[in-house]
Amino acid sequence: MEVPENIITCIMCIYSKHPYVHRGAFSSYFIVLDQEGARTMKGKLLVIGFGPGYEKHITERAKEAIQESDIIIGYKTYIELIKGLITGKQIISTGMTEEVSRAQEAVKQAELGKKVAVISSGDAGVYGMAGLVYEVLIEKGWKRDTGVEVEVIPGISAINSCAALLGAPIMHDACTISLSDHLTPWTLIEKRIEAAAQADFVIALYNPKSGRRTKQIMEAQRILLKYRSPETPVGLVKSAFRDSQHIVLTSLRDMLEHEIGMLTTVIIGNSSTFLHDGLMITPRGYQRKYTLTEKVQPLKPHQRLQREAEPWALDQTEELEFSMNIDVVVGKDSSRELAEEALNIVLREKAAAPQVMKQKFQSIFEIAVSPGVTNKKFTAKQMMILSEIAGEECVLEYTPDHYIKLQIVTSDPHEIVKKLTQSNFVLSPVGDVLTVKACDFCDGEKRDAIPYAEKLYEKLGGMKLPKELKLGVNGCGMACYGAVKEDIGIVYRKGAFDLFLGAKTAGRNAHPGQIVAEGIPPEEIIEVIEKIVQEYKEKAHPNERFYKFFKRVKKIQGFEYQDITPKIKMEVPICGE
Ligand code: SAH
Repeated sequence: MEVPENIITCIMCIYSKHPYVHRGAFSSYFIVLDQEGARTMKGKLLVIGFGPGYEKHITERAKEAIQESDIIIGYKTYIELIKGLITGKQIISTGMTEEVSRAQEAVKQAELGKKVAVISSGDAGVYGMAGLVYEVLIEKGWKRDTGVEVEVIPGISAINSCAALLGAPIMHDACTISLSDHLTPWTLIEKRIEAAAQADFVIALYNPKSGRRTKQIMEAQRILLKYRSPETPVGLVKSAFRDSQHIVLTSLRDMLEHEIGMLTTVIIGNSSTFLHDGLMITPRGYQRKYTLTEKVQPLKPHQRLQREAEPWALDQTEELEFSMNIDVVVGKDSSRELAEEALNIVLREKAAAPQVMKQKFQSIFEIAVSPGVTNKKFTAKQMMILSEIAGEECVLEYTPDHYIKLQIVTSDPHEIVKKLTQSNFVLSPVGDVLTVKACDFCDGEKRDAIPYAEKLYEKLGGMKLPKELKLGVNGCGMACYGAVKEDIGIVYRKGAFDLFLGAKTAGRNAHPGQIVAEGIPPEEIIEVIEKIVQEYKEKAHPNERFYKFFKRVKKIQGFEYQDITPKIKMEVPICGE
């Protein structure tokens, strides 16, 4: 008998130090096995997750594995769900509570040399059979190299299938919690709900309720309401991708008014999950800003990943902590004093910390503050109020746009707006909005055009647009506040307005706006500007600056674009060069 090269041993002399020595003499009793052969003898366990239940959501490998198997072992309902795929196989089906005996039977059959498929709905590794199969094997002294081969075939778990039906509620950090206290003590489950609620995880509750277990979901709701708003979106999905599929969108407050059963997965949103048109969506992150006109505003893609948009980033808080440490070091003499002080701080904070606290996440509140549309003078009192509101961590940015930009990390922008308004500040949103940049009308000496500047601010100031747009209003032909250098500029002269459109405000090829009309009667100017802005709002591409829009469409409200491209061909600068 030829001994192939890959033979590692002969099972007759498996304990012998000299395999093959008696080859020839006992050749008729030899069963020679290579590694593969040894495994084949012992069979194989294929632990399969077949997804939510719809055939198209079963993976190719799962189908193949079922075909490869001699025996299929599973819970009756699951066997029923995939019966189309298992014709001609030996089937061992048991009741739901007989998971352990199913795993034991599977191991036994595999050890007898059978290929055994153990099936779970969803993913076998998520409250499924995979762990149990390994536990039974390990109890019997199983080792990966020598024992029966095990292959775990992943499937789509309920958290994924249910999320897909609800919209995109998972998206950010999420966790699964099973409310079944058959195998887990309820006190531990309670702790997990509490921790997940506190940490603002999106939570998928598996096994939320059964005929006998009805209190757990009520308790879960009670714990969650300690940390989350009653309005928090909640999705209930029963029998995802099965015939009796049923989807309900509700809230944390109302969830118990709907049917929840053994086949339901309950998905609880986090503090930023929202409902839109029958969908439940959790944004990708917390990169949000408050603006004056909107309570919350997601950052546009190009605004993301900017340091100032992420005050919560670890590297930024580290800097903060560093500066705090310096304060402590300066004030203390010995390391013992330092340690005592630190301990006192911790104890004080602990004592002061409320036992329960609703999640209140801080966002950046950005707002433009100025003393007036035409008034350019801050009073000392206003400056004091501003510094009081700003505190130590707010960014106060002096901008070229006739306003100070405030960036405050807060969870209560309304309070800030209230204080600023009481101090007679003029407030505007910042970002892709219309900003009115009026001159000071020679400190109020040349008053004629002031009402028009104020009217324009009232009507258009802060209007959301495809890109930021500056409207310059200057009160005399000197135009010393540079109205002609803004996206749209109007200059009051001889009792009427001259109109300039499409300045390019920055870059080496910056240029003023083109004069498109002279002597527009004052009673018409508001409407003219309104219509121009409206056309830009409706027809410009997202992020398209006004001058580019003018160049592209060639005519706005009948005002024609003139080609003023410089004769010299300029090199296109790379940002920052
Ligand atoms: N291994 C499975 C989970 C089994 S635990 C998986 O990964 O999906 C059983 C629980 O899963 C049920 O109580 C229910 O909460 C959830 N579940 C399983 N299939 C579901 C489906 N098709 N639709 C909704 N929930 C489902």
